[in-house]
Amino acid sequence: MWKYPALQKRFKDILIEYGQDVYLRRRCTSCSQDGPYMKYDDSCTVCGGTGYQKTLEKFTMRKMIVGTQYSFLKSMGIFASGVILEEGCYFFCEGSVLPKVGDLIYDFNYATDEWTPYEINKALERRYDKRIVFYNCAVRIREGTDT
Ligand SMILES: [Zn+2]
Repeated sequence: MWKYPALQKRFKDILIEYGQDVYLRRRCTSCSQDGPYMKYDDSCTVCGGTGYQKTLEKFTMRKMIVGTQYSFLKSMGIFASGVILEEGCYFFCEGSVLPKVGDLIYDFNYATDEWTPYEINKALERRYDKRIVFYNCAVRIREGTDT
């Protein structure tokens, strides 16, 4: 059985090998509410009424599309059973990132030469021995966001 430090190292190795740089834009902590539906105050002075923080944070994440997550989780040596991932696109990141539902992940699209914003639908903590090894974020492309 994998020990926690070994799992963490394994995840870091995966990021080094397969990760890509993305930007995380968190929801405004002053006016937005937790939940699957974006609620914010358009007169909020902290975020300028956008519902998102003004600063972007750079992280390395592993992006995957449906069909390959299971083998990824299996390769971590845990979660081989009991993990069901729906069809879609996922970003995996380290526990320290603390992503939340509604946050945006900007991923550079080399085909269009643009940053594509993905909205997090689910941010699932993947734990071992009560500690977070990584997050598994289910995302979908957010249309019409240019704030
Ligand atoms: Zn705000």
